[in-house]
Amino acid sequence: MRPFALLTAQSTEDAFRHSAQGARCIGGGTNLIDLMKEDVERPASLLALRGLPWSDIREESGGALLLGATASNAETAKHALVRAHYPMLSAAMLSAASPQIRNMATNGGNLLQRTRCHYFYDTATACNKRAPGSGCSAREGIARQLAILGGSEQCIATHPSDMCVALAALEAVVHVRSQQGAREIAFADFHLLPGTTPEHESSLQPGEVITHIALPAAARGFAAHSTYLKLRERASYAFALVSVAAALELDAQGVVTRARLVLGGVAPRPWRVLEAEALLVGKLPQAESFAQAAERLLQGAQAQGDPAMGSNGFKLPLAQRAVVRALEMAHAGELTNTGEMALQEEQS
Ligand code: SF4
Repeated sequence: MRPFALLTAQSTEDAFRHSAQGARCIGGGTNLIDLMKEDVERPASLLALRGLPWSDIREESGGALLLGATASNAETAKHALVRAHYPMLSAAMLSAASPQIRNMATNGGNLLQRTRCHYFYDTATACNKRAPGSGCSAREGIARQLAILGGSEQCIATHPSDMCVALAALEAVVHVRSQQGAREIAFADFHLLPGTTPEHESSLQPGEVITHIALPAAARGFAAHSTYLKLRERASYAFALVSVAAALELDAQGVVTRARLVLGGVAPRPWRVLEAEALLVGKLPQAESFAQAAERLLQGAQAQGDPAMGSNGFKLPLAQRAVVRALEMAHAGELTNTGEMALQEEQS
């Protein structure tokens, strides 16, 4: 591990000054420190954000719920208002990593965590994300965990977060600040597709710090019929091969008035297609419209990688079925296939 300076800020203005000078922000360090140990990341200085006043979880006057960027994933997932009004987010967060990691990892850090593509971590291999212009070893190599949607010739990495899949479905808003002032970024605009510059992963600008994530009041209408379905290689402590955040709002006759549908584990960012959601609205929740929505959401999906080494072609039928199952679960009011046990453990 290379030497680096660890900075602590005495105030928020102090933090913005350090950030503007190029210090990398660190919350729990559950991803960045690993990457530094592997020599993938080489920051000259780290700015510790814990201790700054961004760890609160509170309601705004308009009804939105603000999640502090330095609040831990564990305390956010267990918060009474999150569980009551945004249970899908709680389930998604509790399906991720391990209790120890959730205690350390922060909300802001979760958004900025980096892909777990094997080649990204292996500095002996070509990787455009780690070393721009060097090539992409995954395209003709092991791609089992990687993207079937949204990738490019340069990169087919997936975003590894569960939390972000639920945040995309809830249409969260990311609050950021710098020395130049504050701005808000719609969640759909926060993560970037790789295109020709896979090293650029978010719309966060140099010097900007995430301070809060806002959950809109309007998303509370999904609480009764929302699901986070996660499919992975083992029962816990594994990234999603495919995950689905599905949410429905129904009228008194049981007709869908609003729908949200987002895939995780299949693209460089949470994968949402508004036309797929529109196929559900105005209809009774039923198999035919669920299958149509799944098909539209997966339109354009392509297998990647060398079949002999580890192609990800299996994700296409898996995702199709997972979307239909998640919509069935949301309709039935089943919150999750994996996180409920953890949720109960952590509530006890
Ligand atoms: Fe690197 Fe992206 Fe290719 Fe993985 S998929 S090797 S992260 S360029």
